[in-house]
Parts: sequence; structure tokens; C-alpha cells
Amino acid sequence: MESWLIRNATVVTMDDDGRVLPEADILIEATEIAGLWPRSEAPQNPPEARAIDAAGMVAMPGMINAHTHCAMTLLRGYADDMPLMPWLEERIWPFEMKLQEDDVYWGTLLGIAEMIRGGVTCFNDMYHYFESTSRAVLDSGIRANVSGVLLAFLPDAKERLERAIEFAKQWKDKGDGLLVTMLGPHAPYTCPNHLLDRVIEGAHEAGVGIHIHVSETAQEVTDSQRDFSQTPVERLKDIGLLDVSPVLAAHCVHLTDSDIATLVESQVGISHNPGSNMKLASGTAPIPKLLEANAIVGLGTDGAASNNNLDILEEARLAALLHKLQADDPTVVAARQALCMATRGGARALGIHHRVGQIKPGMKADLVLLDFRLPHLFPRHDVVSHLVYAARAGDVRTVFVNGRPLMIDRQLQTLDEDEIFGQVTERLKRLVQ
Ligand SMILES: [Zn+2]
Repeated sequence: MESWLIRNATVVTMDDDGRVLPEADILIEATEIAGLWPRSEAPQNPPEARAIDAAGMVAMPGMINAHTHCAMTLLRGYADDMPLMPWLEERIWPFEMKLQEDDVYWGTLLGIAEMIRGGVTCFNDMYHYFESTSRAVLDSGIRANVSGVLLAFLPDAKERLERAIEFAKQWKDKGDGLLVTMLGPHAPYTCPNHLLDRVIEGAHEAGVGIHIHVSETAQEVTDSQRDFSQTPVERLKDIGLLDVSPVLAAHCVHLTDSDIATLVESQVGISHNPGSNMKLASGTAPIPKLLEANAIVGLGTDGAASNNNLDILEEARLAALLHKLQADDPTVVAARQALCMATRGGARALGIHHRVGQIKPGMKADLVLLDFRLPHLFPRHDVVSHLVYAARAGDVRTVFVNGRPLMIDRQLQTLDEDEIFGQVTERLKRLVQ
């Protein structure tokens, strides 16, 4: 693998001290960040490496999309402005019943192309045909946690679960650690306890984590109280699901104070998905309270059918704005907290924080360069503030994952977008009739 020397960037490290280095060089060797020097301390004889002149650019850790259903790019704009349950039951699930393996492959590649363009270097996926998702991940070079979605109402739910456990074992750590497998029971309300019991057992057997939607709507919590006399979080704790590590709970919109304490105590990773929650009017997650309680919080887009893009910079901005409005307090979810959720918070939620989430020697080289010589990013009073409140996905110029460039100067290096557009267009003729 080639070595790369990124010179003269403003580096937002997201390290423990929250350092921003105004002019610094980053050395990438093989898959890792091998050096980080402020300009004045750069080695006299620079190591052999391909150089990138990053003057005027900002380097930050690659962003992490902590909850998505990547192939749902196929449904972008297909069903909007509807409540969650009719949206799922009348539009989304019937469409998904027609999906074939290769549809998921191409839909996933479409989402990956979009995410790379927006500086997302890792995503956490739950969907049908997890082998297709995994192939797309390995073909593109992006990092991902992949789980198959498990829904008890599907006629072959039990077989699917056994296949998912087998997949989790066999595909674990394929692709130089880029691919991490998990199990994906859709939600407490679509999975009865006997199915969840087997998921827990399978997760322990395979040594993998669990990705699940939790307390997304008020109705879900009311139904859970009616059927189990427990909130969804209490029920998951009671059956032992929260003892698996890691557990990524998507949404967590409707939580009691005791649910929050349980999630913190059990070290559950939470994906906050403000765009999806607003679009489906699911409610406002208690993010200021969760952050105050030191909960592990990342940001997700959810699927493109309920967002409708896979842009984590936008989610960071929505998170920072939404909670100020909701709390009637402009000091909550500050820019730094929002950017932290988009990077190292997401890494921690997925249990991969020892590898990614910061620009620091020894970490994997998942990083992004954004063009800052643009009117909407000038002057530079505060780079972190700009990233959250002013930058756009289109400002991302160059993206590395695991030391490999996936985009250089806005040119994708591993994916052919025209081919992806052609394949998706062709497949939709069958899917949408
Ligand atoms: Zn979701």
C-alpha cells in the first residue's frame, strides 16, 4: 500500500483534548495514521510518501453513520409525508418484499457512493440480504457494521435468524477488519421474546453485537406497557439483551429517566437520528439528558426513505438545532458535542473506538479533507462551528478509509457512479410498477 503525506491541513483531531491544529501534516502508512505534526515540528526529511497539498483544507476524522438501511436509497422519495406505521405497512414493507439480492447490492453501492461524497467512512447497516450489503462494502472499500434485519412476521423468520447467525460467524472480520458483523432484530415490537432469546444466544455464540430499533415512537412504548408491563428498554434488560456487547439501539426517542440510567449502566450505544425522527414526527429524543448522563451517543441518518439523504454533517447540524429549539436553550448540544457524536461518539457506539473516530497516530487512517476556501466557510473564526453550522457534504474533497483513498479531489476511486445509476434505474422498472 502507498504511504500518503497530507501537508498543511487544519486538523480537527477530535482527540481527548479536542485539539485543532491550525497547520499540520498527517502521515498515513499502510492502514494507519503513522504521524501527526504541527507544521513547525514536521520532520526535516519527510518520509517517502505521495504528498497532498492540503493548504486551505480542513482534515477531520471520517464521519460515522451509526444507523442506516443503506439499500433504502432505492426508496428515496418513494413514500413521503406519512406516519410511521402506515408508511411501513402500506409502502415500505410491500416494496421490500419484491427485493432481490442484486437490488440490495446496487442500492447499497448507491448509498455508499453518496456517503463517501459526504465524508462518511463507516456505516452501521441493518437490512435484507446482508451478504449483498457485505459484498458492496468490500467492493467499495468503506468500513461497515452489517446485520441482517430480523422480522418475526416473515414466514421464514426462524431460518433467516439461523442464516444471520451463520453469516455473523463466517463474515466476521472479513476485509482487513473493515467489515464487522452484528445481529439485527428489527425492534422489540416486531420480535417476540423467543426470537430475541435466540438472538442473544446467537450473539454470544458468534461473539458479535446487536443492532436494534428501540423506543422510536410513543405508541411502541404504550403497547409495550400494555403487553409486557415494561418499557421496551426494561424488557430488553430483563431478557438479557443489554448484556451483549456492543448493543446499538437506534432512535431511543421515548425514554423514562430509569431507561436512561439503564442504557448508561449497560453501556448501550445510541444512534440519534434527528432527520428521520422529525420527518416521521416520531418525537424528540432526550439527547441533552443523555449527554448529561454520559450516555454513548452517535448520529445516524436512518434509511433514505425517511431522511432522505445519508448526510451526517446535516444530522450534526439538525441535532445541534433541534435540541436548542426543543429545550428553549441555545446552549444545549454545542457544535463540539454534535461533531463528537458524528465521529468518536459513533465509533464508541459501534464498539470500534479503539480503531477510528480520531486523528491520532496509531488509529486507522479513516479521515476526510474538506475544502474550506469557499465563501460560506470564510472567515474562519471557529472551524468546528463551521463544520457543524455552515459546511455541506459537497465541501468534502478527499476521503481515506483504512489508509486507502476512496475519493481524491471529488473523484471516486473505487466506484463507477454511471454504472450504479444505470443498474438502479434498470432494477426500479421491476420494483415499481
Ligand atoms: Zn431504522
